[in-house]
Amino acid sequence: MIVVMKPSCKESEVAEVVNTIRQAGLKEHISQGAEHTIVGIIGRTFPELRDSLEFLPGVEEVILVSKPYKLSSREFHPLDTTVQVGNVIIGSKEIVVIAGPCAVESEEQLLSTAMAVKAAGAVILRGGAFKPSTSPYSFRGLGEEGLKLLALARTEAGMPVITEVLSERDVEIVAKYADILQIGARNMQNFVLLEEVGKTGKPILLKRGLSATIEEWLLAAEYILGQGNSQLMLCERGIRTFETYTRNTMDISAIPIMEKISHLPIIADPSHGTGKWYLVAPLARAALASGADGLLIEVHPNPDKALKDGAQSLNFANFEHLMSQLVPIAAAIGRTLAVPSAEFKPIK
Ligand code: PEP
Ligand code: MN
Repeated sequence: MIVVMKPSCKESEVAEVVNTIRQAGLKEHISQGAEHTIVGIIGRTFPELRDSLEFLPGVEEVILVSKPYKLSSREFHPLDTTVQVGNVIIGSKEIVVIAGPCAVESEEQLLSTAMAVKAAGAVILRGGAFKPSTSPYSFRGLGEEGLKLLALARTEAGMPVITEVLSERDVEIVAKYADILQIGARNMQNFVLLEEVGKTGKPILLKRGLSATIEEWLLAAEYILGQGNSQLMLCERGIRTFETYTRNTMDISAIPIMEKISHLPIIADPSHGTGKWYLVAPLARAALASGADGLLIEVHPNPDKALKDGAQSLNFANFEHLMSQLVPIAAAIGRTLAVPSAEFKPIK
């Protein structure tokens, strides 16, 4: 249930609404829209509550929200959420490109990639230190050593870093080094982990689960938002379908759907979305044209030698070429590409 206040309502009238909600044993979520203040109700509502709210002064209307997700929905929060990492803002008119290797392999590999992607226009560096791995026999990441290399690259290249946190056990250490925490597809429904990363207050990127519906994905987002952490972005990274030609089927339609039903920024990952390097650029272009707030692209100095996801990684030249193609697409939809700044200053 949401309470839409009249544009002219007084603060005391909003307070009265909040009071009524609390007296019913429920919680409120206040959001300031362009014209209206919206008071969302969290918890199990009942018909009598609607009656008592509807006739309070300053209330324009009470709307029943039929969707199971609330904090992530546009109804609760009509204006776009922006996520801020230093001076990078995700979810505004500026499109943010996140790039880097699938896995951190060595200082040389990470630093050279950081410099190359920044020179081409990426504003955030990615790299996995704790890698989810389908096979226990493949490379599972450098662990803390990888986090230290990310911290080094962050200073050397002057850009924020994002890395995956695989388990509750690692939340503290990953949060110590990284600017944004990534929840991988395989952990989208690891509800305890979602709550733990929510508590850090750090920006979070929540990838869509391998076979998650849009609704399940937004319900996963509720676990993070429910911890009072609004710094959340979603990431479409392809889903499992009957098609085996590609690694996953990149669900481009999820991008405009999320734009419509949620206020959270949406990032597209055409690397995992396709699994093939030559499909990354076309799908990146399509994602941008469809309204993605950013892209997450895997880049490696020598994809043939990559320890992980080489088949879907772009080399430096291909990444640079893709970046140049994105500029006119952004312009065509009234947006621009965020430009890297000389140095990175964390907010706290
Ligand atoms: C990754 O970003 O390298 C990764 C493992 O992604 P996903 O969780 O989408 O498979
Ligand atoms: Mn990868």
